[in-house]
Amino acid sequence: MVKSEIRNQPDGSLHATLIGKVDEHFDGAEVLRAATASAATRVVLKLDGLRSISSLGVRALEGFLRDLGAREVLLDDISAALANQLSMIPNLLGSAKVVSARLPFVCPSCGAEALHTIPYQGGAATTHAPACAACGHKMDFDGFAEEYLPNSK
Ligand SMILES: [Zn+2]
Repeated sequence: MVKSEIRNQPDGSLHATLIGKVDEHFDGAEVLRAATASAATRVVLKLDGLRSISSLGVRALEGFLRDLGAREVLLDDISAALANQLSMIPNLLGSAKVVSARLPFVCPSCGAEALHTIPYQGGAATTHAPACAACGHKMDFDGFAEEYLPNSK
């Protein structure tokens, strides 16, 4: 089940944060209603709280994004679970645009781990790798970047 936190912005856009597991019970009706009620033309979804996504959840999420219709939909901080699904199903998000992903990094010097937001683009795991908060060393992506980010070619 997914919990959402919804805010209307002064610029007429609707911001929502979705948190939880995306499965067959995923229900975006609350966000849809808010977008309709406020006549928002742009919807910004913050998705780093989506922990796991089942195959039925993928379909529910696709349907939800389709239901948002002609609105401009921007996705911020997509979680590793969602980024991984997206690398396998590139058209999963329809016309929604992924702005950034929040992904795991590990420090090669002291072993510290951290989640860090990087632009959703090929090569960003290297070009936007953070510095370690503990020792200042440049961190490495924790995994295979090509399983989470679009192909740079
Ligand atoms: Zn370190």
